[in-house]
Amino acid sequence: MAQRINPWIPLLALLLGYWVFLQLSPGAAPKISYTEFKTLVAEDKVARVVISDTRITGYLKAPERLPTATGTTAAKRFVVDLPPPQVGDKGLLGFLEAHGVVIQTQSPSIWPQLLIYLGPTLLLIVFFWFFFMRNQGGVGQVTQFGQSRARMYGTERRVATTFADVAGHKEAKAELREVVEFLKNPEKYRKLGAEIPRGVLLVGPPGTGKTLLARAVAGEAGVPFFSVSASEFMEMFVGVGASRVRTLFEDARKHAPSIIFIDELDSIGRKRGAGIGGGHDEREQTLNQILSEMDGFEKDTNVIVLAATNRPDILDPALLRPGRFDRQVVVGLPSLEERKEILKVHVRNKPLAPDVDLDELARVTPGFSGADLKNLANEAALIAAREGAARIAQDHFLKALDKITLGLERGALKLSEKERRAVAYHEAGHAVASEVLPNADPVTKVSIVPRGMALGVTVPKPEERVLISIDHLMDELSVLMGGRAAEELFTGTVTTGAENDFKRATELAKRMVLDWGMGDHFKNIAWGSHTGPVFLGEELARRKDFSEETARLVDEDIRKILDEAYARTKRVLEAHAAAMHRIAAELLEKETIPGERVRAILRETSREEASEAAPEA
Ligand code: ADP
Ligand code: ZN
Repeated sequence: MAQRINPWIPLLALLLGYWVFLQLSPGAAPKISYTEFKTLVAEDKVARVVISDTRITGYLKAPERLPTATGTTAAKRFVVDLPPPQVGDKGLLGFLEAHGVVIQTQSPSIWPQLLIYLGPTLLLIVFFWFFFMRNQGGVGQVTQFGQSRARMYGTERRVATTFADVAGHKEAKAELREVVEFLKNPEKYRKLGAEIPRGVLLVGPPGTGKTLLARAVAGEAGVPFFSVSASEFMEMFVGVGASRVRTLFEDARKHAPSIIFIDELDSIGRKRGAGIGGGHDEREQTLNQILSEMDGFEKDTNVIVLAATNRPDILDPALLRPGRFDRQVVVGLPSLEERKEILKVHVRNKPLAPDVDLDELARVTPGFSGADLKNLANEAALIAAREGAARIAQDHFLKALDKITLGLERGALKLSEKERRAVAYHEAGHAVASEVLPNADPVTKVSIVPRGMALGVTVPKPEERVLISIDHLMDELSVLMGGRAAEELFTGTVTTGAENDFKRATELAKRMVLDWGMGDHFKNIAWGSHTGPVFLGEELARRKDFSEETARLVDEDIRKILDEAYARTKRVLEAHAAAMHRIAAELLEKETIPGERVRAILRETSREEASEAAPEA
């Protein structure tokens, strides 16, 4: 994104220039008082003077220490202000001549005077002009000011992106192919009387390739692509956004057939009138402008507006009416197969070692968006380069994955023996709970190397899930509780290390009760826990949805779920105490152990216990 020039910079530069001008003119000669001047003349120290209408510049025969504002300075030249004409000094010329001073006169230059008196006024004019321009926001005017049109929104005459660059998203592509088809061949549709969508809303989490898809549509159709982020419409002055929208649509129409892409539509497209402290004029005006531009399209305008959002639920219903963004294309997080496809796209021109296994990488990156995967490929390349490798190996990918998901290792962080022990048992608790509970995800590895904000991690190997069963949720909760339960059982005290576990567990339990009808008192109801980013007005309004009594029951249900999970974990860990001790000891020794090792220890200890319980007869 090009940076807009801060209007204060030229202003400050002007002010500074003016100040410097005042300081320097007319030369940096010390300014002395009229009395001092006369004394110097009387002492025959002055050789020559240049008299202008308001001041005298004098030249001494030899350098002299002259008083200045900050002290004294040795100078040969000085200036002195003449007394005003009303006061005058009739005898001055005679006095100078008597002391043999050469007299020169200088006709007054008008420029310094003009600048001194008009300077501030000019500055004010420039200032207002500048803001007027901004306020107008008209690209045309701004262009005269030396800013390019492209600064306000991205314009591409030819887009090189095609659908081949977008991996996965089969349905989305099929839907958008129709748009491409229309842009290429509008007559075919018009003959049949078919109306083509004005606006298509791409809905999905960040980084899933919405922008990419929009560009691909333009690329496939071979039409210009005008893109802007809705947040860029928001400016300090009311009306700027609206006028920018106007120019954007004007330009797109001029270059029709074309595509307008508005990113982050929700930042201006939120329901009007929501939010606290009255409406937001600028936002509403901008939104209204978009709506009226879209309505204003003639039947035969070949401009299609694509917009992206990850919160379609908070969009103003007016945006979603027929003739506006009446089509929604879901651009979700990629599935296992799609992740592999996306990885393929992003390793296309990277040298890979033969051991790189994209299937495996796709499997260990559930929940990753396209942008995350791109980042992963890039990080792997960086790590390979840092190690001086000629090709990127699987190990580089796995290291990059750790770095992205777990944060950087913090080698500098030194823990005491006691703290390390607490962390080891904490992580062992998570690990054992994960392995023992039937519906929890298995462990990939456990580590007590501090990374990012965490002192240790237990990395699960999540399954691909669309629907999540309550059994899995309960086991997940128990796994989260595993850290604290282990500390309590085996270290004799508890630490602050479980904060994040509890936060996540509470969030999960809250959703179980409020969203998924899994609370004891709320079997078939969804109040909506509103975990996403909500804006204040709606949140407050929603609070009223349920009574104090309901709120109390919600709390009760959440607490019950969490308490149950904790109690269950404690039972599990107690039953596997031998394994706990062994895993913790191994963690203290090796710092990181793989999931297989955890499972092996669990198998060994249960075999030993079984043989102890039933000694061979
Ligand atoms: P969004 O607009 O949904 O936030 P972007 O389109 O900006 O996401 O995606 C960011 C980057 O991630 C893209 O430039 C692209 O390199 C990569 N990416 C995302 N999804 C895909 C995909 N399905 N196939 C290939 N690359 C993808
Ligand atoms: Zn933990």
